Amino acid sequence: MLVRTPAPMPTESLFGYILRVSETNGYDTPRHILNYAGYERGSMRSAIFLVDKLAEILGCNVSELEAIAYYIIDENGKRTFRIRNHNLGTKLPIEFLRITKPSFCPQCVQEHKFIDAFWDLYFAVACPQHRCQLLSTCPICKMYLRWFRPGLLTCNCGTNLIDSALEPASWRGRANGYYEGETKLCINTRLAQYLALSDARTGESVIALINLANGKTW
Ligand SMILES: [Zn+2]
Ligand SMILES: [Zn+2]
Repeated sequence: MLVRTPAPMPTESLFGYILRVSETNGYDTPRHILNYAGYERGSMRSAIFLVDKLAEILGCNVSELEAIAYYIIDENGKRTFRIRNHNLGTKLPIEFLRITKPSFCPQCVQEHKFIDAFWDLYFAVACPQHRCQLLSTCPICKMYLRWFRPGLLTCNCGTNLIDSALEPASWRGRANGYYEGETKLCINTRLAQYLALSDARTGESVIALINLANGKTW
């Protein structure tokens, strides 16, 4: 069992949660926790990440972590992808979850103290609250951010990511296909439309996520 076992927040990113648990326990990378729990190397490079071993070292029920899991196997052996408990079906378009190249709004992370699952979505390209583009590379070492880093806001080179200057959301946004203004959508609408059309179930979730960006519940 780990010394510190914070509970996941209802809207937290699963991999962001693993990084938060690692940081809270004083590790410089989540790799130690994954090794300790018995996960294979490379397990955090795929959405097919089962939370049972993680629940064991956290001393909590598997269902508590399944609430934020990307992939679950139910009691009948049925496998489904999920985000925030939305059923995304048995196949996941590769363009749906931003698993290997995390991005996020540093100001939101500093305010909320966790990484929201909204940033796990490829079509989330800006922060509706702070109206900035997302951080995907370290401003100092220029490397892509990785889940294997010391903390939510700490790069492997030691840089505090809250100090990153980010482009305002309105600048490059139009070229990327997202729009803001009255709807306050900070998503890549072309990608969202493509995903919404690609599969009925995924489409339902995309629409739900658009409602989230509009400040509605989903
Ligand atoms: Zn923000
Ligand atoms: Zn860096």
